[in-house]
Amino acid sequence: MTLPTRYSALALLRHALRGHRQWSPAWRDAEPQPRYDVVIVGGGGHGLATAYYLAKNHGITRVAVLEKGWIGGGNTGRNTTVVRSNYFFPESAAFYDFSVRLYEGLARELNYNVMFSQRGMVTLAHSRHDEDVLRRSFNAMRLNGIDCEWLTPAQVVARMPLFNAGPGARFPLRAGVNQPRAGTARHDAVAWGYARGASQLGVDIVQNCEVTGFLREGGRVTGVATSRGEIRADRVCLSVAGHTSVLGALAGLKLPITSYALQAFVSEPVKPIFHTVVLSAATGVYLSQTDKGELVVGGGLDLYPSYAQRGNFHTVERTVAGLLEMFPAFSRLRLMRQWAGIVDVVRDSTPVMGPTPIDGLYLNAGWGTGGFKAIPAGGWTMAQTLATGKPHPLIAGFGLDRFESGALIDEAAGAGIAH
Ligand SMILES: Cc1cc2nc3c(=O)[nH]c(=O)nc-3n(C[C@H](O)[C@H](O)[C@H](O)COP(=O)(O)OP(=O)(O)OC[C@H]3O[C@@H](n4cnc5c(N)ncnc54)[C@H](O)[C@@H]3O)c2cc1C
Repeated sequence: MTLPTRYSALALLRHALRGHRQWSPAWRDAEPQPRYDVVIVGGGGHGLATAYYLAKNHGITRVAVLEKGWIGGGNTGRNTTVVRSNYFFPESAAFYDFSVRLYEGLARELNYNVMFSQRGMVTLAHSRHDEDVLRRSFNAMRLNGIDCEWLTPAQVVARMPLFNAGPGARFPLRAGVNQPRAGTARHDAVAWGYARGASQLGVDIVQNCEVTGFLREGGRVTGVATSRGEIRADRVCLSVAGHTSVLGALAGLKLPITSYALQAFVSEPVKPIFHTVVLSAATGVYLSQTDKGELVVGGGLDLYPSYAQRGNFHTVERTVAGLLEMFPAFSRLRLMRQWAGIVDVVRDSTPVMGPTPIDGLYLNAGWGTGGFKAIPAGGWTMAQTLATGKPHPLIAGFGLDRFESGALIDEAAGAGIAH
């Protein structure tokens, strides 16, 4: 017998009395059915959240999420978990802040602890030029209604006493901007929580099912060919991150998306020494500490397009060099793991969401280095777009048509290494 799956302290106690042998699986591993209302390709956070909100907000439950590997095994399970909304343009700020707000209630919404920790995120300026850019983005954030605070060097050092702010520092400290509501969340838990919620509402989650082509009638996409047979659907949504241009090409779409490796690494665990997220564009490094004690370190993209999910050593070297300029004390730490994900980069660092020129085919892509924070809002707005056939107002500016009209939302300064 399996016991009900509502997680609570009482449930934990009841299961403990039975030796933890009766927990039911968090989600059903479904067999693919011949037909669905909506097929979502890609079981990362975006695909799973879209499926969850289709069922929850729109009552559309004949939905399948098709994942070629295991859910969360793509960038969703590989990122450095930073959640923030300190973007420059009003369209981005409104979208990403909606996402942060959804994160604030996500553990309760999903009955799953996503460990959202709003420990703040400090962006640093090390030169006069940096400071001008930071002041500009600080002003933009305030105009966009995103709460943030300007920090003097002394205030920055008070938050991170190991920072090398001495007179001989190669990157002198001029200022910082803190977004107090930013922070980190547990990436796997976000994928698993949405999977569990969607599965409970009737969504089929199909792992080990690779989409290899598209079924067409006239000009319209009417389903997908997969490694487990053909599946028909009224609407197909691609949420495949670094493989978007590969699948787009199979459908006959040439997309303005390039795939790069983005790396990160963690140190051995140490006692709590770092209580915020910090980012420095000049050194090309950002950093936080997990609840387990590991320092999580990330930097910029590898320099050329690739599908090799491991990355190159020179990027690790450059990132470590920047880290040690800021925090020389960390030179004593050993690195434990290094990895990479293949991210879907768009030149204006803004996602590509909504319908495509091919009837029945939708895109949720272009998240590049920063789509983890966007998972709740991406899922919410994409679900509404799929349910109604019209882009949700929050993503109206994120369509493919901007590459024809020229109405780009150039978030390069808000994105860059700032994932
Ligand atoms: C090292 C690193 C650090 C990052 N740090 C941050 C951060 O701190 N904050 C932040 O907001 N973002 C960060 N990101 C970006 C973020 O992880 C991604 O933008 C986000 O996870 C994208 O989610 P997704 O669901 O679109 O893609 P994914 O999680 O990659 O899911 C796509 C899925 O599609 C599947 N797939 C591909 N092809 C097929 C096919 N043919 N058939 C079936 N399935 C297929 C893949 O297996 C994969 O599971 C980081 C990324 C990396 C790599």
